[in-house]
This record gives sequence, C-alpha cells and structure tokens, in this order.
Amino acid sequence: MTEKVKCLIIGSGPAGYTAAIYASRADMKPVIYEGLQPGGQLTITTEVENFPGFPHGVQGPELMDMFKKQAERLGSDIRYGLATKVDFSQKPFKVIIDDNHEIEAQTVIIATGASAKWLGIPSEKRLNGAGVSACAVCDGFFYRGKDVAIVGAGDSAAEEASYLANICNKVYMLVRKDKMRASKAMIHRVENTKNIEILYNTETVEILGDKVVDGVRVKNNITNELKTLSVSGFFVAIGHNPNTEIFKGFIELDEQGYIKTIPGSTKTNIEGVFACGDVQDKNYRQAVTAAGSGCMAALDAERYLASQH
Ligand code: NDP
Repeated sequence: MTEKVKCLIIGSGPAGYTAAIYASRADMKPVIYEGLQPGGQLTITTEVENFPGFPHGVQGPELMDMFKKQAERLGSDIRYGLATKVDFSQKPFKVIIDDNHEIEAQTVIIATGASAKWLGIPSEKRLNGAGVSACAVCDGFFYRGKDVAIVGAGDSAAEEASYLANICNKVYMLVRKDKMRASKAMIHRVENTKNIEILYNTETVEILGDKVVDGVRVKNNITNELKTLSVSGFFVAIGHNPNTEIFKGFIELDEQGYIKTIPGSTKTNIEGVFACGDVQDKNYRQAVTAAGSGCMAALDAERYLASQH
C-alpha cells in the first residue's frame, strides 16, 4: 500500500539530520530514510575537532548519534532503509524504499552525500582511521610536525597538500602520471611550497604499519623502481562519487553527477525537490556546511509547502 508523507528526507548525514530537525520543528512530520551508511561519512572518522560547539572535540559516530537523537526527540520518523527508485515526473513525488515500499511525498529533500574514492588496496582498508584518511581538513591536525603522503593530482589533492604543508613537516604528493590535472594556480602553489615533494609517475604499492601507518611503499611506473617513504599519515584525495545513481534522468546533475542547485538555495530543477550536503557540494564538503545546507533545505521545503495551499 502506498504511504503518503508530507516531507521525505533521503539520507542521514549532517545534512539529512539537520533538515529533519528543522522540518520536525516546522511540523512537517518528516520521514527520514537513513540509507546504506546511517550517519554518513562521519561515522567512519574518529575524532572531529572542527565541528563548532565541541571545545574538546567529539568522536564522529558519537556526533552523528547526537544528531539522530535530537531529530528523534523533535518528532522525526527515522527509518532504516534505502531509496531504490524515484519518480519525480509527477506530483506527489514517488519514492520506492528497499524495492518494495512505495511512498508518495509532497516534498523531497535529497541528502544522500558523496563517497570518497579509494585506491582499493588491502592495506588502505586495514589502516583506515589508523593513519589512512580521505580528508586532510578533518585529520591533518593529528600529523602536526610529522611527515605524510597524499595521493592524487586534482584540485582536491593540491589543495589538501597545501593545507597539510602548513601543519606537517613534509608532504609527499604521489602523482601517477607525469603531470597533474589540477588548475594551473594550484599546481604553481604546490610546486612552490618548500616542504611538498611531488613524486610523478608514482603509484602506491602498499601502506605499511602494524597498528598505525609508519610508511608507504611506492613504485615508479616508468623505471619500476621501488622505494619506501617513512610517513605517519596517508591521505587519499582521488575524488568523490556523489550518491545520485537513482536520480539520473529525474533531476538535473552536473557533468560529475552532483545535483545542480540554484545558487543561494537548495532548489533543484524540480519544484518541490531540494538537495543539501555533499550530494550537491563538491567544494566545501564539511559537516558544518552540510548541516547548514540541511537547514536551508528544510526552510526551502517549508516555504514550498506553504506556497501550495
Ligand atoms: P578529480 O577527479 O579532478 O581528480 C582526481 C585525481 O585523482 C586525478 O588527478 C587522478 O589522476 C587521481 N586518481 C584517480 N584515481 C587514482 C588512483 N587510483 N591512483 C592515483 N591517482 C588517482 O577530483 P578532485 O576531487 O580533485 O576534484 C573534483 C572536482 O572538484 C574538480 O572539478 C575540481 O576542479 C573541483 N574542485 C575545485 C576546488 C576549488 O576550486 N577550490 C577544490 C577541489 C575540487 P589522473 O589525473 O591520473 O587521472
């Protein structure tokens, strides 16, 4: 049987839960589906030191648990389940959960986030959270004064390498080709930063360390020469994949698959469907910016519903 919902929120990271908090307080009776990774990317990080309001820091999973409890206390209906299909071609909007439950929603807030790309080698998985990270801004601070490596050659890698260079003793930038993809300005910046050493034609063979990272084995893909770099942090910055597969064909995406929103709002090209957090932001990608845009989405949705009467 089709369930009718006023406000449906898809995704449960900082954006989704913040949208739920605001939507609950506005009496929109939001139903929120948590998706594959309840709590989102922060649940796979350790300490979060840059979320305001926590002077001593907070563990990522604990922070997301607090988001969830706050949304629940205010009346959000939080459910475990994955949106597997949508149809935004008519109103109310149709969303199928877990391939078997049909929902008709007056308004939909998409907060499905993005997933960091990984190299896919076993040592990267084994040492994740123990020196391996996909977020320099989140975790760079823990390697203050130490040597680290970062893999990637796009704007993110260049920007994160510069960020790390300010904190760390030395940054090895591992670039698999003989050139970088980043913008000229960013390449210029990393090339001219004294404590960044760029290793071109270099691939990661294995990240070393028993319990925590203590080095990385790299290979020059021209000469096949192997060497070990002694580092305590290993950062992966090879891009993100926005979680937008099910929305293809129903909503306007940019060339990288991120949902396009009207600047200064969370409005998509479909009136009544809003997007917030990393699924529409490839630039800032912070918990606090995602939460901020979740708030915007709930306010935009509230105004939309009010305009329908
Ligand atoms: P990109 O897709 O631009 O770059 C990914 C980089 O990772 C490429 O250099 C690629 O190498 C490398 N890479 C991919 N897979 C591997 C692998 N298995 N091993 C080694 N290297 C790998 O992603 P970004 O996150 O850097 O940027 C995404 C978008 O966001 C871009 O459009 C970028 O311009 C934009 N952006 C803008 C910023 C700004 O304006 N301030 C800041 C950050 C991002 P290769 O080149 O060899 O394919």
